[in-house]
Amino acid sequence: MNETYDLLRRAADHAVHYRASLANQAVAVPVDPLTLRRRFGVALPDAPTPPDEVIDELTLAASDGLVATAGPRFFGFVIGGSLPAATAADMVALGWDQVAFNATLSPAAAAAEEVAGEWLKDLLGIPASASVGFVTGAQAANTVGLAAARHHAYAELGWDVERDGLVGAPPVRIVAGVERHATIDRSLRLLGFGTGAIEKVAADDHGAIDLADLERVLSAGHGPSIVCLQAGNVNTGACDDLRRACEIVHRHGGWAHVDGAFGLWAAASPRTAHLVSGVELADSWGCDGHKWLNVPYDSGFVFCSRPEVHAAAVSYTASYLVGSGGAPGLSDFALESSRRARGFAVWAALRELGRQGAAGLVERTCRLARRFAGRLASGGVEIVNDVVLNQVLVSVGDDEFTDRVVGAVQQEGTCWLGGTTWRGRRLIRISVSNWSTTDDDIDRSADAILRIVAQERDADRERSR
Ligand SMILES: *Cc1c(COP(=O)(O)O)cnc(C)c1O
Repeated sequence: MNETYDLLRRAADHAVHYRASLANQAVAVPVDPLTLRRRFGVALPDAPTPPDEVIDELTLAASDGLVATAGPRFFGFVIGGSLPAATAADMVALGWDQVAFNATLSPAAAAAEEVAGEWLKDLLGIPASASVGFVTGAQAANTVGLAAARHHAYAELGWDVERDGLVGAPPVRIVAGVERHATIDRSLRLLGFGTGAIEKVAADDHGAIDLADLERVLSAGHGPSIVCLQAGNVNTGACDDLRRACEIVHRHGGWAHVDGAFGLWAAASPRTAHLVSGVELADSWGCDGHKWLNVPYDSGFVFCSRPEVHAAAVSYTASYLVGSGGAPGLSDFALESSRRARGFAVWAALRELGRQGAAGLVERTCRLARRFAGRLASGGVEIVNDVVLNQVLVSVGDDEFTDRVVGAVQQEGTCWLGGTTWRGRRLIRISVSNWSTTDDDIDRSADAILRIVAQERDADRERSR
């Protein structure tokens, strides 16, 4: 017992030291993947190894192969760094080793999910009557939300899709914006619709759905439809006009699903809530915890305005629906049966932040994104998007030059950001999503980028001489 106790303390110490170094270390250490592979790649031993040796070996092998995604100057993708209370809560939860299958196996996990789910709906502007499923991320949330949509659409056609499947089923229309996230396509593939079925709706200049085109597409056909809307374009941060889009969808008898992986959090601040006004009108919503809420990986949420539809689509067994009298449990709203107890960390993050802290996190990161854009613009590079949320799109030159700058910034290590293709152009994409990022982090990072752009331009001039 004492050995286990020492081991867990040591593991916790290691995590503490790592996190303490996050703000000062280079974001990505360029380490050769083969070296890492060799370090991990010892032959599978025949004999057991004492746990403390295992942990020492593991931490040593991994140390310089870690990217400081949890740190304040990681601006790639839309990546948060877990909040202190959320991180600690997950560490405790690991010790508890609870399975969030149902309230019998872990009454505490069930209670934490229930309360955290209520708090989430409150902050995100989702009706209190909606059901909540704790899932692994927005990919899973979109899959579950669209499964609920599928159930509803087929129920309208008198077809039991859970029992009879899709072979021989009448068609259901799938409508989505051209700016949808790639996870929507994968969810549609998994649900048996196929991506070829998508009727595409144009986007406006900023990447939000074009309402006139949505009206045109929906008017052009008949029958039940599932419409995928978006809050928070992963490139620009643009949010669809959810109020008007949902009104159009509902006028045509469709189901509106909102992919709001990070953008739904705009609702948490009075300064950005207008961007997602009308969010409450949708039928299902997908959202991430591990992005803007800054809880540990992996964590996402799916909400559905009709709990009975949600459960009918993904429930573990259909038995409670056919007269067992039981209410649906945790696993009836998610894809997994045995699950990590994600509710503890979410509860802890929301408890740590409070309503003001959640608003403050959104406001601060949006302000820092604008600061980043301003600093880069005054350094002479072009900001391509309207910085409405936490995303900044930057043009530094042609495609080849842009990729070269992105690679050099990643190598240099002050900060990390990625490249993206937007409207046919390679651009730098910056996302400010971490709770611990400061003004100084932004200034240092912008300066490093401008320095590297200048160096690469000089190098080009040298070469062309
Ligand atoms: C990140 C993102 C997703 C996918 O989220 P995961 O957490 O990686 O599953 C889906 N949609 C949008 C708009 C996103 O930004």
